[in-house]
Amino acid sequence: QKCACFLVASEVEQTYIMIKPDGVQRGLVGEIISRFEKKGFLLKGLKLFQCPKDLAQEHYKDLKERPFFPNLIDYITSGPVVCMAWEGDGVVASARKLIGATNPLQAEPGTIRGDLAVQTGRNVVHGSDSPDNGKREIGLWFKEGELAQWESVQTPWLIE
Ligand code: GDP
Ligand code: MG
Repeated sequence: QKCACFLVASEVEQTYIMIKPDGVQRGLVGEIISRFEKKGFLLKGLKLFQCPKDLAQEHYKDLKERPFFPNLIDYITSGPVVCMAWEGDGVVASARKLIGATNPLQAEPGTIRGDLAVQTGRNVVHGSDSPDNGKREIGLWFKEGELAQWESVQTPWLIE
């Protein structure tokens, strides 16, 4: 049977990670991607993208009543972002740990925000907060066919 798997949502847990415009402007793209690569998760989607306002509003719709919402939308649409889909068991919670607390001053050293940022309004990276939101956000930011189906040669050296 011919594989139509590029059309089928992955069974494995996935998270949506996004390098925000400050991370791109500050030249942190390689550094941030590197942390997820080195951890051992699988990169399934990657693109540089200028986010339109309506997509930013949809992505952050749960925050639309918050006073900082207009600033947040301006921030996310202020320049290109790097959109990524990462895959692996437990990737959602683990990525949140790698990213660190929302306020970079409270984020632990060793985390992305703890090492690379100083303010909540410029906290360089986004990560989905649940597997369901991972699916929802990957569906929002990527079109069908934009995710790659591939196996890493490292997998047997990462997972017994
Ligand atoms: P996250 O899941 O850690 O990214 O945090 P939230 O889901 O609570 O908020 C989403 C994003 O909104 C954060 O990453 C910040 O960019 C922004 N944000 C949250 N709270 C504040 C705030 O109090 N002030 C400002 N300026 N931005 C905020
Ligand atoms: Mg959040």
